[in-house]
Amino acid sequence: MNLHNILRLGVALAAMCVVALVLGVATGLAGRVLTILGFYEVLAALTLSVAAVAVAHGLRWRPRAGALLVALMAAGCWLTAHRLTDAWGFRAEQAQTVLRESHDLAEDFLVSGADTPMQLVDLGLNAETGADGVRGALLVEWRAGPLVLRAIGLERRLPPQPVAQALLLSATLAFLTVLVRRALLHLAAEPACPVCGRYLRRDRWGRVSALEAERLREAWSRNESPEASLTPTADGPELLRETCGAGHTPRPGWSLVQVRRRTLGSGGAALVARLPAGTTTTASE
Ligand SMILES: [Zn+2]
Repeated sequence: MNLHNILRLGVALAAMCVVALVLGVATGLAGRVLTILGFYEVLAALTLSVAAVAVAHGLRWRPRAGALLVALMAAGCWLTAHRLTDAWGFRAEQAQTVLRESHDLAEDFLVSGADTPMQLVDLGLNAETGADGVRGALLVEWRAGPLVLRAIGLERRLPPQPVAQALLLSATLAFLTVLVRRALLHLAAEPACPVCGRYLRRDRWGRVSALEAERLREAWSRNESPEASLTPTADGPELLRETCGAGHTPRPGWSLVQVRRRTLGSGGAALVARLPAGTTTTASE
């Protein structure tokens, strides 16, 4: 790994940290209103995957070993921000409840020695968990058990079981990490411009027959590109045209991929053959 790649990894880590924290605060706030177990986790996995790929594209970063680090960090940042925001919201709502439901706030303040509704909440949290502030709120939520559903002020939770909850938390972290890492490794297999490192733009040319595909494969192995004589068909492998956005590919690259439509889950496309893009000899950058 050279210095450039280490720098890119560092910037990717910082960028994904910011994205994950912002997303975590947003889902944490939304979750105060409506939560269904697993919904925000899946949403975060998809959003973070897309963001990680976009960051790698922008940085022209080829994620290899660093993919796991970036994925783990994004997952950890999101989960932390999501949970902390939820606990923060819980504590703020408790203070609102005190304001709304206390019959004699002045008397409550006098008896407890608190000056604000939030201090009253903190006294309650401290009595219940031994910790106040967001930490106390986190502990109250942890002890209440995993949240399954929250809507229109109602909450449904599973019975609290610390071991099962710790497992659920680890599984969530692993799920997010695996998905983000998978997206990054998928990207790393995509062709990049040998001159500037940009990921090549891929345009669908169309489908070709199995016979034509075989002919292309042979021609490409001799470094020839007979695409001009092709006619698109309705079925068969798909042909992709690959060019650099900065114009470093006077002869575009070609990929022949087999699209697996009927596979459940990890569908996508399998590379059948590739002709790398031809580049200029003098780099303009
Ligand atoms: Zn280029």
